[in-house]
Parts: sequence; structure tokens; C-alpha cells
Amino acid sequence: MSQQFEHVALIGLGLIASSISHAMRRAGMTSRITGYARTAATRGKARELGLCDKVYDSITDTVRGADLVILAVPVGAMGAVAKEIAPFLKKGAVITDVGSVKRAVIEAVGPELPKNVHFVPGHPLAGTEKSGPDAGFASLFDNRWCLLTPDKNTNRAAVQKLREFWEALGANVDEMEPDHHDLVLMVTSHAPHLIAYTMVGVADDLQRVTNTEVINYSAAGFRDFTRIAASDPTMWRDVFLNNKDATLEILGRFTEELFSLQRAIRIGDGDFLFDYFTRTRAVRRSIIEAGQDTDEANFGRGSDK
Ligand code: NAP
Repeated sequence: MSQQFEHVALIGLGLIASSISHAMRRAGMTSRITGYARTAATRGKARELGLCDKVYDSITDTVRGADLVILAVPVGAMGAVAKEIAPFLKKGAVITDVGSVKRAVIEAVGPELPKNVHFVPGHPLAGTEKSGPDAGFASLFDNRWCLLTPDKNTNRAAVQKLREFWEALGANVDEMEPDHHDLVLMVTSHAPHLIAYTMVGVADDLQRVTNTEVINYSAAGFRDFTRIAASDPTMWRDVFLNNKDATLEILGRFTEELFSLQRAIRIGDGDFLFDYFTRTRAVRRSIIEAGQDTDEANFGRGSDK
């Protein structure tokens, strides 16, 4: 390991922060880890799990003297947390976040921080539908991308040090412009979540008509939607409220595509449907070729549809 942050402070002790702690220890980092979460229950659980060297009841004690502060709270809470910790940050510290939206976080956090720290926004593209301090695991970031979104004024040494930190946790690191990040993530993550929430909502309404059939005969397609739709409501509420423009842009396109498929089905245009599904199948191939998913049928869970 080239350089290490001697003291890392985790603000928020949920899935992402707990995975960072596990991955740091797996990497053999000897950094002192301090942590804070909003509720006593989460802080107690984190203590029980031994996620940090010290979990403080005070957010300011948590960041005091830290070389790296990681904001791992819901996107809508980032600005208030930054404001609270700002007066207590060590000069020269690197401050980063793991928020799923970048432009809104930069606008909320950036102005709150003092000039003598380095803010390098980030987003690890890794997660599960689980949340809380016991949901984390050391391999969460392995071979996943972590996108950093610094601007032209960001200290390059700070960016480099944070890059090395994420690489040591198993991630591949890339840099991206924040608005572009928000659009790309809308397509690859946010809109699919919204569609899953909708599909499960439709099934829930239908279930009232068909009793338990939707649950009992739940096939893999629907079950995959339910996994995504079980994701944390606070996190996802904040993602959509804070990535509004990209959400509306992609939903507009999605609706147009849906109408074109609807029309093809109505007029019996099998060629259109076949070509469309052939094109989408190729997208799946490229994801597997990029090493971002398994080639096994049904993700290796056995056969069903
Ligand atoms: P999580 O498991 O729900 O944990 C969130 C943590 O933030 C909890 O410990 C919570 O504490 C704490 N928190 C909430 N509001 C707070 C506040 N005002 N002050 C201090 N702590 C506060 O969520 P997560 O999945 O780790 O997500 C954290 C961040 O990572 C979010 O910004 C999310 O967008 C981003 N992210 C998530 C994923 C994913 O798939 N889950 C992937 C990449 C990035 P309490 O439990 O005490 O309320």
C-alpha cells in the first residue's frame, strides 16, 4: 500500500460504510477508524459488530483529527452533515462522500466546507437491497467501479490518494464530470429502480384481485424486480428528488419506447419486437464481457422463468 490515511472517519454506519470498514481491514489497512450514525440503535449495533475502533455519540468527536472523512448518509442529509462537521475538520483532510447522485451533493456539501480541506466527491457503483450496519461485507467493492467527480480546482494529490484508497478496497476507479455521472447512473441504476418499484406496485394492486397468486407463482422476472424494489426507501426517495432533471429526461424516453412496443404488439409487428429484443440481448452480452455480471443462467440460481 503506497500511502494510507492514518485516521478514517465514517459518518453514517450503514451498508456502504460498514462494507468500507470490512474492506479496509481485509486490505490490511492499519488506519484508526472512527464512526458515527444518527441513532443510538445503529451506533450500538456498530459497536457490537466492532465496525470501528471507536463509535462516538458525537459527530464532531468522530471527525476530529481525521485525515479522511467519508460521508455515507442518504443524499438528502449530506449538506446538513457537512455543515455540522465543518468547524472541526483537520486542515488538509480529504472529505469524500459515497452518494448515488453527484451534482446535488456537490452543491449541498461544497459551500459548507472550509477552504483548507480537500473535497473529492465519489460514488462506489456497488450495493445491495439491504441496509444498516450488519448489511456490509468486505468484497462489496471488488471489481466494481468507484467514480470520483472532482473539478478542475480539486487538489490532485487528494484525488490520487483517494483513488489508491478505493483501489485497495478492491474497486476500479475512474473520474467523471458530475452531470454526466448523474445521467449515466439514471440509465444504469436509478430508472431501473423506479421501473421495479412501479412493476411491484402494479403487482401489489393486482394481488388484491388474485389473492396470493402473484406471490405463490412469482417467477424469476418478477422476483428480480422485487429484490430491487426492496431497496431502502429513504435512500431512493433522496436519489429521485436530487436527480430530478435526469430522471424526467430518461422517463420521457422510456415512455416513448414503451409506446412503440405497445404499438408493435397492437398491430402485430413481430419483426419490430424481434429486432428490439435482439438488440437488448446484445447489451447483456457486453455487460458480461466487461466482467460486471455472471454468465450463468438466472444468475446461477437454478432454472425458472
Ligand atoms: P444505509 O445502510 O441506510 O445507511 C445510512 C446510514 O446513514 C445509517 O447509518 C444512518 O443512521 C445514517 N444517517 C442517516 N441520516 C443521517 C444523519 N443526518 N446524520 C448521521 N447519520 C445519518 O444506507 P447506505 O446504503 O449505506 O447508503 C449510504 C449512501 O451511499 C447513500 O448516499 C447512498 O445514495 C449511497 N450508495 C448506496 C448504495 C446502495 O446500493 N445501497 C450504493 C452506492 C452508494 P441511522 O441508522 O442511525 O439512521
